[in-house]
Amino acid sequence: MLPEISEPEYQQAGLLVAALFYNQLGQYELGLRYASKLESIVKEERNACLAIQLTIEAKLKLHQLDENSPEINNGIDVCEKSGETLVSAIINTYVATLLLEQHKYQQALQLLEAQLDTIHAFNYAPVSSRLYSLLAQGYQALGQTNKAETYASQAVATSIPMGNDESSVIAYRILYQTNMARNDYKAALDYHVKYAQADKAYLDDIKTKHLAFQLAEHQAAEQKSRIALLDRQNNLLLTEQQLARIQAENNRLFISLLIAIITLLGFWAYKSWTIQKRLKQLAEYDALTHVFNRGHFTQVAQSALSYCESSEVDLSYILFDLDNFKQINDKYGHAIGDWVLKKVAKACQAQGRKNDIFARIGGEEFCIALPGCDLKTAIKLAEACREAIATIDCSATGHEFNVTASFGITDTQMSGYKLERLINDADSAMYQSKETGRDRLCIFDPEAKRTIPQASHSLLSL
Ligand code: GH3
Ligand code: MG
Ligand code: MG
Repeated sequence: MLPEISEPEYQQAGLLVAALFYNQLGQYELGLRYASKLESIVKEERNACLAIQLTIEAKLKLHQLDENSPEINNGIDVCEKSGETLVSAIINTYVATLLLEQHKYQQALQLLEAQLDTIHAFNYAPVSSRLYSLLAQGYQALGQTNKAETYASQAVATSIPMGNDESSVIAYRILYQTNMARNDYKAALDYHVKYAQADKAYLDDIKTKHLAFQLAEHQAAEQKSRIALLDRQNNLLLTEQQLARIQAENNRLFISLLIAIITLLGFWAYKSWTIQKRLKQLAEYDALTHVFNRGHFTQVAQSALSYCESSEVDLSYILFDLDNFKQINDKYGHAIGDWVLKKVAKACQAQGRKNDIFARIGGEEFCIALPGCDLKTAIKLAEACREAIATIDCSATGHEFNVTASFGITDTQMSGYKLERLINDADSAMYQSKETGRDRLCIFDPEAKRTIPQASHSLLSL
């Protein structure tokens, strides 16, 4: 949490606790790290003193301290200035430990004796027992058994309320060794048992601390790797999400493209269909009257003739030509002539059946082929057409005039199944109508090679 804490007071307190905690746990490298960090940022003197004390303690345990290390004097100075005399005494016990290790017993004892007043004044058990055990060690080394025993006993007495620590281990060892040297085996054995117990308890304590630390370290590592795994999974999910987004985008693009292509194709198909229709219309139909033109009529009539011939059924053929149409054109104009042609086509179309093949085959000439129709029916239809033409009301043109037409009729029984002959024969019958007064029907007569004029009223008798 340290990086998140901005108040210097709490930050320093946090670093101090961390350094103290790791030193007590025997993790001196970590203790040193936090103590050094605290030392580098500390402003307040008391914390500075504690930071140096913890640094010295960690360095001593890590064998990085020698008696001339600058932090020793600096620490003692800072602590005394801030009134932390107990801490300064503690630093001195560290120096004494170092001196004892270097067999500088006199120097060590001198330094330790100098701390006695302070230690008594504070009466702080952990420090007192440590000081007594160090004094005992020093005196033992110098052969001053009595003093060694006295301090060792004091160390034991002080450390008892705290449980077993290093001081009591050292103290019991000294007591057992001095009694051994005096040949007091009973007391020696007694102290040896206590020494062994204290040593075991102390080692167990260290072991427990190490185990706890290792366990915590493993848990932290496990948590770290779990976090890393989650991070990786998260990244994977993010990548998958991105991929899905891109895929969705691609799909959208693809669909848009498809829609565009389909629309274009549809438009093209529709366009080509309308063009085809228009072309067919142009090719097959007369532009003015919208009935079959001559070319298409020929095709359709020919296939109808073949069909009728093979099925042995009749086909009748009616041909008609408007009477004096030139006069209408001349008198009222070409546009009115066109109007008449349209009216005539419409009037005759209304008379026929669905199967009739009605066409405009010349300027003002029309024909109707009637597959499966006998002559009698054809005459009836021709008469209906004649009457329909004759009764066209032309007043819409703004002029008063009548339209009539002359008809020629034949069938396959008389003219055979050749279209050309049918047309020719009907044509000659039609001319007969013209010659005999117009506005009438004439039937082709093959034997006489002449036509039979038909009065319109005589149709009823047919
Ligand atoms: P008849 O009774 O002998 O058939 O006399 P007619 O005047 O009808 O015959 P003619 O062959 O002399 O004249 C046919 C006229 O039809 C000549 C031409 O100007 C006219 N015509 C032909 N095609 C069209 C057309 O598409 N529109 C118009 N308005 N007139 C046309
Ligand atoms: Mg004509
Ligand atoms: Mg004519």
